[in-house]
Amino acid sequence: MFVLAVELLTIHSPFLCMGAMKMTTTMLESALTCPHCGYVSVEVMPTDACIYFYECTRCKALLSPKSGDCCVFCSYGSVKCPPIQEGRACCAGSATPAKR
Ligand SMILES: [Zn+2]
Repeated sequence: MFVLAVELLTIHSPFLCMGAMKMTTTMLESALTCPHCGYVSVEVMPTDACIYFYECTRCKALLSPKSGDCCVFCSYGSVKCPPIQEGRACCAGSATPAKR
């Protein structure tokens, strides 16, 4: 009887793990592609701030977001910034029109 209970636990645990992982799927690494020289650099994004300016490590061009994007990762990265991934408005709040 005791062995049976342990077996049931091991069968169910993979499902529990998968459920827990689904909660935190925010990607923190984004591959930034420089629009000037095409250099790709993988950068770790901060979860509590936005990178508005980014200097390309190869051509030293200063990248800034395209209009409508909140940060350089949203414009040039392979992954959008954490607040956008989580469905939150980004720091600048440009995604949600302000009501006045
Ligand atoms: Zn560049």
